[in-house]
Amino acid sequence: MTDVLIVGSGPTGLTLACGLALNGVDVRVVDQRPGPHRESRGKSLNASSLRVLEQLGVAARMTAIGTADLVFRKYFDGAHISDTPFTDALFLGQWQIEEVLRERLAELGVRVEYGTAITGIHQDPDGVTARPAGGPALRSRYLAGCDGGRSTTRELLDIPFEGSTEERSVMVLGDVSAPGLSREYWHQWFTSDGAAMLLCPIPGTDSFQLQASRELDPDGEPLPPSLESFQRLFDRHARMSGIELADPTWMSTWRVNVRMAARLRQGRVFLAGDAGHVHPIAGGRGMNTGVEDAAALGRALTAALSAPSGTVPEEFLARYEAERLPVAAELLADTTERLERVLAAVREPGRGTEAALR
Ligand SMILES: Cc1cc2nc3c(=O)[nH]c(=O)nc-3n(C[C@H](O)[C@H](O)[C@H](O)COP(=O)(O)OP(=O)(O)OC[C@H]3O[C@@H](n4cnc5c(N)ncnc54)[C@H](O)[C@@H]3O)c2cc1C
Repeated sequence: MTDVLIVGSGPTGLTLACGLALNGVDVRVVDQRPGPHRESRGKSLNASSLRVLEQLGVAARMTAIGTADLVFRKYFDGAHISDTPFTDALFLGQWQIEEVLRERLAELGVRVEYGTAITGIHQDPDGVTARPAGGPALRSRYLAGCDGGRSTTRELLDIPFEGSTEERSVMVLGDVSAPGLSREYWHQWFTSDGAAMLLCPIPGTDSFQLQASRELDPDGEPLPPSLESFQRLFDRHARMSGIELADPTWMSTWRVNVRMAARLRQGRVFLAGDAGHVHPIAGGRGMNTGVEDAAALGRALTAALSAPSGTVPEEFLARYEAERLPVAAELLADTTERLERVLAAVREPGRGTEAALR
């Protein structure tokens, strides 16, 4: 029987897996994806995450890839207004963070088992049985659901995900190249009607992460993300001739979701990262909180698994939820407030996403 089965190999699952494996815990990681992704998504690591990653022996590798020296360049109605240097976080793409963590995990003897979607979970007094679609059952002493905002683990356990979801997605997202556009800046274009387009360079690549208010059709319906739509949005906001967006490697939409799980533990099963909380991206706290959840869960499970046989490790197991559930509640309130601050600030020429930062 495996000690801990981790469902999901995003930043949360991989951080947890590395921490447990370093402590000698027998761990398996499964993911429903066919293989690693290449999406920039969460692109900033804060000081607390870097402390956790340092303990895993990967902070230096990430620092070598990323940049801690990014200038937020703000434009209003097409005109360049101000620049704000920002040195409080390490910027790199989420796929790059995951790649480094996977490499570390492989050094510790564990490989992510891709193409393994968990569709059933059953608990008994001795352990957990997880059922992957079309594969043999996986038995473990504990299971960690690190399977993102649409967590199957959370659903299978019937844990309420309380809060609200906006009906309409408000932004399009993507990774594109923009030959000719300076890579020294996180370009942030805002207009007097509150619309925005942001292009953030992803270090070590030719790519920028694109975030923009959705383009609407003549009936006011949002258009799906596409390279053509991205270009029209760029031309409207940036008003820079001669820059052609290209090479879209990721295109998505984003809506405001403010929800948290009613519990982060049910018996031998735990939730961590986006599986336990989703919230506005203002302030870049999602992945960072997942990394901290993973560190806390790693401590709790290591302590429980090293408890002398015959003792009940309840005290250690209960500690995780007691520590992290209040953090999730604070996270939802804090990021909602940060989003409101940014939305108000960017109507003023020269302000940008730094308004979300303390
Ligand atoms: C544009 C954008 C910008 C962002 N910027 C930041 C930022 O600057 N800083 C920050 O901290 N955060 C940021 N975030 C948020 C960040 O991306 C998420 O918080 C982070 O991905 C959560 O990590 P996770 O590991 O918990 O979940 P995920 O990354 O969602 O990983 C979950 C994994 O579980 C797998 N899975 C799901 N269901 C199953 C199943 N049934 N069986 C097996 N596997 C399964 C999935 O395939 C996936 O690989 C941003 C997000 C976006 C979209």
